[in-house]
Amino acid sequence: MRKSEIKTECEGVSSTTGIPVAWVQWHVDQRAGKPCAKCSGTGLYGMWGRCFRCEGSGGKATPARVAEALKWVKDNVPHVLALGESREKGRQTRKENKAINKRDAIEMWKRDNPRHWWALENMPEGEFRDSLMAALDNIQKGWMTEKRMMALWMKADELERQARGVVKDAPLKGATVEIRATITDYSWCHDRFANQIFRVKFQTVEGWRGRFDITDAILIRTIEGMQSNMALLRGTIEWSKGNFGIFGSDIRLTP
Ligand SMILES: [Zn+2]
Repeated sequence: MRKSEIKTECEGVSSTTGIPVAWVQWHVDQRAGKPCAKCSGTGLYGMWGRCFRCEGSGGKATPARVAEALKWVKDNVPHVLALGESREKGRQTRKENKAINKRDAIEMWKRDNPRHWWALENMPEGEFRDSLMAALDNIQKGWMTEKRMMALWMKADELERQARGVVKDAPLKGATVEIRATITDYSWCHDRFANQIFRVKFQTVEGWRGRFDITDAILIRTIEGMQSNMALLRGTIEWSKGNFGIFGSDIRLTP
């Protein structure tokens, strides 16, 4: 029997008995079986004309079985209503439990990581904060990666320095610099000429931060495989403004 026909029958019984359609359907599915999922109960499919999954039968839900199931529903209205309510209540409880678990998990993370949470709360609004907040809100296993934790820790350092008024400006363009820094992020992206590049962001011990783009495979592997995020950076500053500087292509990195 076609899925759409079964639905119409269920709607009919629903309107005469006052049982929600979904509940009627649930019992019909249980008692008569479901129509074939491939052909929706028509028995026809594709270029062969006959559905290969149910071999043209349309599945278990024959008109006779569906009629029998509907009759049973009509004969057992109070029972069907009670069952439906208990299923509904169970679903609601599972949903509530899930929400409580999630809230607990978020609170627990905040309690366990007060400094990270402080940084997250106090960092300026922007993409990074938004993405972390969204991740926290949708907390699930593995949402807070090592990289994100490290970035938050560095953010806390930066915020503290800012609070103390000790953010240092990045060196001027053309300066050759050797400095210890923490790699806060790296990812593949495109430069303004649409070339694929590996972009690395860092935060220096002096308080200024910046980034550099590389394409050298060996250097990329070195960065990806670093045990700690600390590295010694050497190179020429290509661009800088305020406390942000960009290294040129002569950048060297020693973990
Ligand atoms: Zn079929």
